[in-house]
Amino acid sequence: MILKKRTKPRILKKYEALLPRLPPNFPRLADVRHEYNKNKKGYEGELDVDYHLKWLPHEYMILQDVCLKTQERTFQMDNLVITQQAITIVDVKNYNGRIIFDTILDQFTRDDGAIEMGFSHPIAQVELQRSNLQQWLLERNFPNIPIHYFIAISDPRTILKVEGDKEKIAKIVAHAATISKKIIDRNKRLSGHTALQDRKIGHATRKESTVFDKDILEAHGIKEKHLLPGVQCPACGVLGMRRVHTGWFCYKCQKKSRDAHTSALADYLLLVRPWITNSECMRFLKFNAKNVATRLLREYGLFYDKARRRWVQK
Ligand SMILES: [Zn+2]
Repeated sequence: MILKKRTKPRILKKYEALLPRLPPNFPRLADVRHEYNKNKKGYEGELDVDYHLKWLPHEYMILQDVCLKTQERTFQMDNLVITQQAITIVDVKNYNGRIIFDTILDQFTRDDGAIEMGFSHPIAQVELQRSNLQQWLLERNFPNIPIHYFIAISDPRTILKVEGDKEKIAKIVAHAATISKKIIDRNKRLSGHTALQDRKIGHATRKESTVFDKDILEAHGIKEKHLLPGVQCPACGVLGMRRVHTGWFCYKCQKKSRDAHTSALADYLLLVRPWITNSECMRFLKFNAKNVATRLLREYGLFYDKARRRWVQK
């Protein structure tokens, strides 16, 4: 049973909004594109694993994309599976080519045909998630909960290689298609112990889970002034549609649109700040009529904060 469903991550939405708004000669454009691709690939891998996990028996509660806060830190997990026997963290990795776990040197490398790169160790990452989750449960009066973890390799073409202790890695890392069976097997071995308050834990987790967020402009050293303003043409993608009487007109492909400004406003609220003034609206959408700004912002569903003279989201 899916208790919390995955939606497109906020960070990925931010990258989608950011890329068309950076000038083509922006110095850090390649880094931004790299991060966008990484986030997109990660999300696609998570969706692939969702497909396999949904076949778990009904009493297995699945929470996708969980972000929790302990007193010290915020941590994020791709999947939690909660049963009366245990909680299982399923972390998703989407890699091309070949991945190598070296248990002797305690190293992890990825080899995609061209380069071998050392990555931060996936097992260390998920172990950290486990200790954070343990702490979170303790703070909510759920002590002594068994927490297991798996690393699901989402792409069936990825080749897994182990140097050293194969058995140890095989207990943790597997292709997505076999993860469900591994979770069920481990749960069966645990049955007979005192049953956990699985529903209570599941609902507390869902209730407290927040949206994982990050200031990506700051992360890439991008200032507000670097962002290209303008309404993007839904047909040809060009920025800077012209405001005409009934909507927007594209100077390049001649397409007309009534509501092309809504995605520009969404970009602004996502990337810049969660509120907007009339003058910022006119600057960002590139037109000059205060009454039109007021109308568009109201129609968009924003509310006017009179004291601060700005439009806010509900
Ligand atoms: Zn156009």
